[in-house]
Amino acid sequence: MQPLDLEVIIGLEIHAQLNTASKLFCGCDNDAFGAEPNTRVCPVCMGFPGMLPVLNARALEKGLQVGAALGCQLQPYSKFDRKNYFYPDLPCGYQISQYDEPIAEHGHLSYPVDEQTVQSAGITRVHLEMDAGKLTHTASKTLCDYNRSGTPLVEIVTEPDLRSATEAREFAKMVQRTLRATGASDADMEKGMMRFDASVSLRPRGDEQLYPRAEIKNLNSFTSLYKALQYEVMRQRQLWEAGTPPTQEITVGWRDDEERTHLLREKESATDYRYFPEPDLPPITLSQEAIAAVESTLPMLPMAVYTRLRAEHIPHEEALSIIDDPRTGDFLSAAVAAGAPYKKAVNVLLSVLGAHADWQDSLVTPAQVADGIALVEAGRLSSSGLRQVLEAAMTTPGSAEKIMQQLGVELSQDTGQLEAWVQEALDGNPQSVADYREGKEKALQYLVGQVMQRSRGQANPPQVMQLLREKLG
Ligand SMILES: [Zn+2]
Repeated sequence: MQPLDLEVIIGLEIHAQLNTASKLFCGCDNDAFGAEPNTRVCPVCMGFPGMLPVLNARALEKGLQVGAALGCQLQPYSKFDRKNYFYPDLPCGYQISQYDEPIAEHGHLSYPVDEQTVQSAGITRVHLEMDAGKLTHTASKTLCDYNRSGTPLVEIVTEPDLRSATEAREFAKMVQRTLRATGASDADMEKGMMRFDASVSLRPRGDEQLYPRAEIKNLNSFTSLYKALQYEVMRQRQLWEAGTPPTQEITVGWRDDEERTHLLREKESATDYRYFPEPDLPPITLSQEAIAAVESTLPMLPMAVYTRLRAEHIPHEEALSIIDDPRTGDFLSAAVAAGAPYKKAVNVLLSVLGAHADWQDSLVTPAQVADGIALVEAGRLSSSGLRQVLEAAMTTPGSAEKIMQQLGVELSQDTGQLEAWVQEALDGNPQSVADYREGKEKALQYLVGQVMQRSRGQANPPQVMQLLREKLG
């Protein structure tokens, strides 16, 4: 049998917790991680009779920031709806979500797949909804903790634009970086703050139609997302190759320990949930000014930083290391604002500070980096001197200039002294002089080293090199 040429079609639904102080519709503490069960609850988030939800304005603001950062059009009119279903983690018997009028639609997000490839995926919509509680199943009982009930979530739905498990994983990482850059979500997957549902189907390449998909629920790490998709693609490929492609949409779960998906149920559809407008919450209306205000406060986004870094010929992996922690991108922007040339600041971050795992928590400031680079450019500090200054700055407050003087690494500006060191090195190493004149370039490096030794690091290496070349003719 001929192997079929099949195309993989993947779409993601991403849930991320917004890091507001209080929950989506009540004043309960939104930071319940590690708290005693059922201590961050009230009648509203417990779904008691007569409870009335009130929208948290900060959650709306953060949700809009996420929408704008994902290139969406923020909607002047949106509303909440009830999604009706029973489950013990959902005390109201319905989830307050947004059905046909979400806060943001029609976005896109670019992301690098690897060193060579940048792709883009469409964002269908971004909407707000409340989270459910948490169930813990033991051998004989199920324990319910409603601390998380009512936590504000953004749900990000993509177009079916992803073509492999690798693309899905790399896209998801860029979503996480983007969420963190906006400050709207910590997106910490170890604390369950970001999770994925992934829909996957296959089709013969060239076919425009979409075939019944499997939706893999509740993936809570990039590794699970990748492995579950790889597995599901393989499973569906076998069905296609056996001449029995999937005929029904299904919902599956993923077991990390078994590394396989398992059938949960036939996929439910929107009509199953009997959505209807939430009667206790007014629609959200936004003026053009309010929308423009959200868009204007967006920070420099990680993909824009990545693009700039690549334009400066910074390799893919190093560019990712800069955008992976929003603090690094912010530090870079601040150093550039303080006068550092972009590429030089990047190199300092990667090669000097990046060598210390804890540099983000140290005392070093963007101004020290910018001033240190300026001292190098003025010929007063060597690049190894800059390293010493910045490493000292991690534990010492004070200007780069002051630290340089304290360390005694300022380069000598005394040209007479420099000439003397150079002459001494030439006189003391006649063999190297002869070697250089015979064309051995290495001999010059040796002579530079000799001068540096005599100056105890205070000579300026490029200047030494130039003077040596002049004297050697
Ligand atoms: Zn509450």
